[in-house]
Amino acid sequence: MVKLLDLQAITAMHGDEYKAAVNRVIDSGWFLQGNENEKFEGDYAKYIGTEHCIAVANGLDALYLLMRGYKEMGLMQDGDEIIVPANTYIATILSITKNNLVPVLVEPTLDHLEIDIDKIEGAITPKTKGVMIVHLYGRIAYNDKLGEICKKHGFKLMEDCAQSHGCGWKGVKTGALGDAAAHSFYPGKNLGAFGDAGAVTTNDSELASVIRALANYGSQKKYVFKYVGMNSRMSELDAAVLDVKLKYLDEDNKKRQELAAYYYKHINNPLITLPARILDENNVYHQFPILCERRDELQEYLKENGIQTLIHYPIPSHKQECYKDWNERSYPITEKIHNQELSIPMNQVVSESDAVEVVSALNTFR
Ligand SMILES: *Cc1c(COP(=O)(O)O)cnc(C)c1O
Repeated sequence: MVKLLDLQAITAMHGDEYKAAVNRVIDSGWFLQGNENEKFEGDYAKYIGTEHCIAVANGLDALYLLMRGYKEMGLMQDGDEIIVPANTYIATILSITKNNLVPVLVEPTLDHLEIDIDKIEGAITPKTKGVMIVHLYGRIAYNDKLGEICKKHGFKLMEDCAQSHGCGWKGVKTGALGDAAAHSFYPGKNLGAFGDAGAVTTNDSELASVIRALANYGSQKKYVFKYVGMNSRMSELDAAVLDVKLKYLDEDNKKRQELAAYYYKHINNPLITLPARILDENNVYHQFPILCERRDELQEYLKENGIQTLIHYPIPSHKQECYKDWNERSYPITEKIHNQELSIPMNQVVSESDAVEVVSALNTFR
């Protein structure tokens, strides 16, 4: 069987190093806000190319805290609008509505699957304060035009980098392209911890210090509370593990790119559409999405042939019960993607023979 994600095998690649890191933390007797967090924050900021990295408890918190920080700074207020792709994981949208901000959903393009930058200006209103892009599936969602739009209107450009660790644009990494960015280290991400973890990266020193306080009960000084904060901290165990994994991220992403090149070369079933191929350095293939009109049948066929797959995602945010006021809206491209998308095995432990199996199953689907 070819697994979609074999975390046991992925972890085993550097198992001894992880165990040594975890043991070091256990022996230290220090589990929060210590040397391991400081080391990882420094190393990750350096890797992304920003001045600051604030480690937090998970990706949703990172997204939430980023806009909450802007609110505390007086740069955003209740009812302001944030432009965001209609096709994203629910966390991106939740982080906006949980801040009492209004997500303005913009369609993606069908070939790239990322927000359609040509449609952004049409979504601007006097309440627009920012654009949140999502580098979905590890594909770059930024281009120079987007940067110019945000600059021209004075919008905050925010990035959801939960799926794009290591992805870049003209030599600048995602996480450093805009004003601030949120990262998730959920175990299945390209850079995954052994539990929940996340981070914010930014060059904005004021935002960084507000977020650091908000994530620590709103406190900058022990037992003195400036903001109505929350508890969103990264365990020292996770920081230690992530610091090990970060060393291998580029190497792991390269393996994903090689597997993707193989898929692009050999998948040739006319019933299946592959997303437009973009320069490898700009795609870290968190997932390898394919589109098929008879997606559910294809998924069943692959399952019978021993290939695990997953749909990212079956129901768009605007059709979810939690946003029932939006259920009547129509975003046809987003809906089409949700009806046709299937993610096939894509990670650093998919072997050559696995890849041959995946391709042959895909190509024999009729
Ligand atoms: C995983 C993910 C998140 C949320 O991260 P968590 O760490 O699970 O909270 C946010 N946005 C996107 C696009 C994701 O894929």
